[in-house]
Amino acid sequence: MSEDDCIFCQIVDGDIPSRTVFEDDTAMAFLDANPLAPGHTLVIPKEHYETLEETPEDVAAHVFGVLHRLNTAVEHAVDADATTVAFNNGEAAGQEVPHLHGHIIPRFEGDGGRPIHAVAGERPDLSDEELDEIAEEIHNQR
Ligand code: 5GP
Ligand code: ZN
Repeated sequence: MSEDDCIFCQIVDGDIPSRTVFEDDTAMAFLDANPLAPGHTLVIPKEHYETLEETPEDVAAHVFGVLHRLNTAVEHAVDADATTVAFNNGEAAGQEVPHLHGHIIPRFEGDGGRPIHAVAGERPDLSDEELDEIAEEIHNQR
């Protein structure tokens, strides 16, 4: 998808309306059009980056700062008991809009939702050696 076809770029440009709750030079936040809970909010960089890997660290840090600030605002606005804050980062993880966005999903006692542990498939059975190798590989890739 090119940036011209990107729904969230069109929201940034004002070509598609949104219920905007925050905007500065780098980031924007608006209500999700198909909310999983009242107050479900999306935070995006204004520049088009598809995934966290593509996003420069300073932009990602700014987006996270906005997530942090809005998380409290959203919780208070809808009197939530908690929130789930997450990125579907890439198509295989279920990302449907290919413009980086963090979700703030208000959670309520007994809402029937699941924790973030429910998003992946079967838990892998990894040996201590395999865990050591993975940790070393991540350390080497930094
Ligand atoms: P994803 O699965 O990519 O992490 O989530 C995309 C989110 O964007 C969905 O929760 C969906 O409801 C929301 N969304 C899709 N199109 C629009 C739109 O045009 N406006 C707004 N405000 N949200 C949208
Ligand atoms: Zn975009």
